[in-house]
Amino acid sequence: MLLKDKKGLIVGVANKHSIAWAIAQAAAQAGAQLLFNYQNERLRENVVELVNTMPGAKAFPCDVADDTQIDALMKHAAQELGRLDFLVHSVAFAPREELAGQFLNTTRQGFATALDVSAYSLVALTRAAVPLMTDGGSVVTLTYLGSERVVPHYNVMGVAKAALEASVRYLAHDLGPKNIRVNAISAGPIKTLAARGVSGISKMVDHHREVAPLRRATEQAEVGDTALFLVSPLSRGITGEIIYVDGGYHILGSLAALE
Ligand code: NAD
Repeated sequence: MLLKDKKGLIVGVANKHSIAWAIAQAAAQAGAQLLFNYQNERLRENVVELVNTMPGAKAFPCDVADDTQIDALMKHAAQELGRLDFLVHSVAFAPREELAGQFLNTTRQGFATALDVSAYSLVALTRAAVPLMTDGGSVVTLTYLGSERVVPHYNVMGVAKAALEASVRYLAHDLGPKNIRVNAISAGPIKTLAARGVSGISKMVDHHREVAPLRRATEQAEVGDTALFLVSPLSRGITGEIIYVDGGYHILGSLAALE
């Protein structure tokens, strides 16, 4: 019961395949009380059905591109939980046409949307959560290797993840004195709703399975367990860090990946 008496807000469950749902399951099993969001009415029924399987958990609407919806979500968190010990940000979006073809063709609007929803939202959500983190806290977000290496078709999402990772470091610096830690998990490719928007995701997963040192595809539950570590006191000395949960794929040079 690593998270006994801990209260957490999980942003980014769309369905049972969502990484956020695996994180929620790990946190709930460790004793945490959880609150969730759903992005819009289209996802509401699915998310509420899942959340209802978790005793005591509730879900409220929040589109992270809208500050008033973020404020409303935090009001629900204050009412339902009283305070927050951790926040999980597991959200990303870029228009589908930006995730195929060349990065060179990224549009101004596509760039702005990807950066707003996938990177700025961490800043906005964290700022809104801080007043509820009265006893310190932990913020965890999800990133991908495409932030630092070129991964075909990941395109503007790689730029957004680079901004997200830099935001993790700046937020960690600002919030460290309040004992609020901010970290990211860089997960290997997993076929989720969001990942299906990236052209060639199946090939990425197969390649990963073949060449990653652990010779298997990354699973949601592996990411969930690392998130559990990051929101628990076990990681109390870690902030501003990017932790790879990718079977070791990121250590490979390009020739090793060809073997
Ligand atoms: P997912 O589709 O299950 O989750 C993405 C979530 O983002 C959804 O719940 C969706 O509703 C939410 N979202 C998108 N736009 C939003 C908005 N405007 N307001 C509120 N919510 C919004 O897919 P996932 O793979 O679980 O993605 C979760 C995180 O993990 C993302 O940041 C993604 O980039 C990251 N990640 C995924 C992989 C992978 O291969 N699946 C690898 C590394 C990192």
